[in-house]
Amino acid sequence: MSRDAERFDVLIIGAGFAGMYMLHRLRLAGFSARVFEVGDDVGGTWYWNRYPGARCDVESVEYAYEFSPELVQEWDWTERYAAQPEILKYANHVADRFDLRRDIQFDCRIASAHYDAEEPHWTLTDTAGQQYHSQFCVFATGCLSVPIKPDVPGLESFAGEIFYTGEWPHQPVDFSGQRVGVIGTGSSGIQSIPLIAEQAQQLTVFQRSASYTVPARNEPLDPQLREAVKADYPAFRQRSRDSGYIFGARMPANAGFASCLSPSEQQMHLENYWRIGGLFFARAFGDMQLDTGANAIAQEFVRTKIRDLVHDPEVAERLCPDAIIGCKRLCADTGYYETYNRPNVSLVDINAAPIESITEKGLRTSDAEYPLDALVFATGFDAMTGALDRVDIRGASGQRLSDVWQYGPATLLGVQTAGFPNLFMITGPGSPSVLSNMLQSIEQNVEWITDLLKYMREHEHECVEAQADQQTVWMEYVAAMAETTLYTRCNSWYRGANIEGKPQVFSPCVGYNQYVEYCDEVAAAGYSGFDFG
Ligand code: NAP
Repeated sequence: MSRDAERFDVLIIGAGFAGMYMLHRLRLAGFSARVFEVGDDVGGTWYWNRYPGARCDVESVEYAYEFSPELVQEWDWTERYAAQPEILKYANHVADRFDLRRDIQFDCRIASAHYDAEEPHWTLTDTAGQQYHSQFCVFATGCLSVPIKPDVPGLESFAGEIFYTGEWPHQPVDFSGQRVGVIGTGSSGIQSIPLIAEQAQQLTVFQRSASYTVPARNEPLDPQLREAVKADYPAFRQRSRDSGYIFGARMPANAGFASCLSPSEQQMHLENYWRIGGLFFARAFGDMQLDTGANAIAQEFVRTKIRDLVHDPEVAERLCPDAIIGCKRLCADTGYYETYNRPNVSLVDINAAPIESITEKGLRTSDAEYPLDALVFATGFDAMTGALDRVDIRGASGQRLSDVWQYGPATLLGVQTAGFPNLFMITGPGSPSVLSNMLQSIEQNVEWITDLLKYMREHEHECVEAQADQQTVWMEYVAAMAETTLYTRCNSWYRGANIEGKPQVFSPCVGYNQYVEYCDEVAAAGYSGFDFG
């Protein structure tokens, strides 16, 4: 052990919703813990993603912690879908209410995490060289926390300002009078484009693939509804779980399989869910994500809406995706398609004319040059494994996690990986994570891990490690579940396909309720599949 190293029971990396709750839960269980956070405050994804229009696509009453009845009662969401500032305010409220900050070290990036099998303990080293030791180490680093910064030739020569939606400045950005370019039309682009268009003198959107987006239909949250939800919050959240979708307790159940409906019934359901708004659209048919025929009907419905909403038929066609709807994550917008009716907005198809370079004055594609004063990259994230890959994590025999996962991540239940004793991930690859309501998955994972640590303390176990063969079985199950859906039929970030050369493994686990049942069974059987030492 180094001379001035500090020692804790548990070291946690990340002070987003996962890291904060992990700290709170561990404290309640009597463990000493310290959290490390790169940012200068709590909030994780909601700390970094401050771009105009940033908003959650899960309803606010569900995108909230459930563990504290007092917290549920004292917090009032103001909109159907909370905007980033309100979610960040909530994160800060939680940090204050549970006095979390005293155990969080801000402005601290952990560079390495090495396991010493002799001691045994984990040694974390931050970028300033300070070391910390602990029996356990928990990565609460999020699934979408490492923004992609495309290496476009000439980027450094650009005289204007460059922004990344995933690392937006803390001060307000004013695009008034500017010629702005946005690259990327996933959720972040689709949320920010309408607001940038309102400010900018001219907005040029550079689109590589058109995305499917459904109107969010955000609105102020009806106080009566809010109170009704609070009146029996556990039952409300149970309805979310029972829905099978993990969010949308207020929504009608899905309309059944498309093949069981007449064409007019199919259109009626699609129309109804388009009116309801947001990701719930995927519930218009129970088999939208399972059957290509059902999916094709929904695709055509959205293309018809785009052609209705966008006045210029050529622009409308460019905005019409032809991929499987929901395979890449569905987006929820406020006025996205309508934005292309504005005289100051143009859409450039960079599939037809690829970006060649950024110049001092703007952006050059293969067939034109676009003068720009500012350039916004809404180009997504190194998802699922990106944050883990960026730390030099070494296991029992000195092996690097990034080497072990060179052909794709492998875990048992998304919480542990073989060869890395006492190392945990919250909502890691192999857990439902991004296919669920993240807050609900975070609470489930945190509570399950805490119970495991308590079990170890009671049974005087020092080490726990996922069994390699059980991990293989688990990842085969995750892959098999994905194959029952249409999720594997496109190049999405869910499977790492948005990054050239990244191994393509669909790592979120389909089926939250089955996952939780399995976790509970494993725990009830004395954590079968895990070795103790
Ligand atoms: P994304 O969905 O991965 O979209 C990235 C966009 O950038 C895509 O249009 C992509 O085109 C384009 N792109 C990437 N690299 C490019 C390059 N080198 N040149 C040109 N275009 C490029 O990323 P995101 O919009 O940040 O969203 C990621 C996820 O974060 C979402 O799916 C969602 O889960 C979460 N998120 C949620 C919310 C919300 O709650 N409402 C908001 C924002 C983000 P291709 O499709 O052709 O690759």
